[in-house]
Amino acid sequence: MEYLRLAITDRCNLRCFYCMPHEGIEFVERKELLTYEEMLRLTRILVEMGVTKVRITGGEPFVRKNIYGFLKRLTAIDGLEKVNITTNGAVANRHIPFLKEIGIDTINLSLDTLDKDRYEAITRRDFFDSAMSTYNGVLAAGINLKVNMVVMADKNRDDIIPMAMLTKYDEVNIRFIEEMPFNGTGERDTEFMNHKEILAHLEQNLPQLNLISSAPGNTSKNYSIEGHQGTVGIIAAWSRTFCTDCNRIRVTATGQLKNCLYDNGVLNLKRLLSDGSSDTMIIEAVAKAYAKKHRDGYESEKKHNGIISESMSSIGG
Ligand code: SAM
Repeated sequence: MEYLRLAITDRCNLRCFYCMPHEGIEFVERKELLTYEEMLRLTRILVEMGVTKVRITGGEPFVRKNIYGFLKRLTAIDGLEKVNITTNGAVANRHIPFLKEIGIDTINLSLDTLDKDRYEAITRRDFFDSAMSTYNGVLAAGINLKVNMVVMADKNRDDIIPMAMLTKYDEVNIRFIEEMPFNGTGERDTEFMNHKEILAHLEQNLPQLNLISSAPGNTSKNYSIEGHQGTVGIIAAWSRTFCTDCNRIRVTATGQLKNCLYDNGVLNLKRLLSDGSSDTMIIEAVAKAYAKKHRDGYESEKKHNGIISESMSSIGG
């Protein structure tokens, strides 16, 4: 257990159709969220248990109020080597100097197209220029940049190569993600494109791709491209080809511990963090829950209660 993905809110300023419905979303009440104090204590405990890397996610992390104090204290935790943030970039551009100052290691920016109209059709919001300004700002600040593009054959197939071509001059890792059915409805009405098809499409249209070896637990299969500064990656999020060496856990905004994106939640941490349980008791409970981690995402899905219909924003993508 080395890598924690911590969702600090379930709210978002975009409405990406593959993530949540246009309207009728019920966000949780504030009192149900983990407080910043609870998240800091939990992270300290998990670092004691072996976690070295935290990714802050949501929802959109930058819509939660007073995030600066929290991030500052988080990055100062002893033994925590890396703090990364996943953002849609809609308002993140103005925070870049602060993120640089506190030593955020990597920003994962979600961007599914380089076409302004298509961006609006996918996200149902008009933040393309801000997202691009975040893209450029992060590069200019010298913070590592990864870009996440969810691939749907009938929606943004034509964007795959333009997105990959960003790597020609920019030192960026562009990652193509298989769409998962976590859109809050339980139904998929897009044309799925799997990791093999994405790779074939890249190979047909780009100079020679060379596989780069990755650290254990890495979900992205990365490739360098002859003559390019940056790299591309493919995340088989639905095909789940990477589960064998998974070293991650997730904590949702309401404090559910998840061993896998596809499980139901294995421990209510909000309760433990607020009922007077000691650090030792929490360590024991987490260790017990983690020991039951399923072999892979297919098994987690099989044991999932009911069909998969949550929004990624409530799981913490
Ligand atoms: N708001 C932040 C953002 O947009 O990056 C963080 C939360 S978002 C849920 C995290 C990641 O999950 C994004 O890169 C997003 O594209 C991805 N995601 C959301 N729904 C998805 C789905 N149904 N299939 C695959 N990836 C999805």
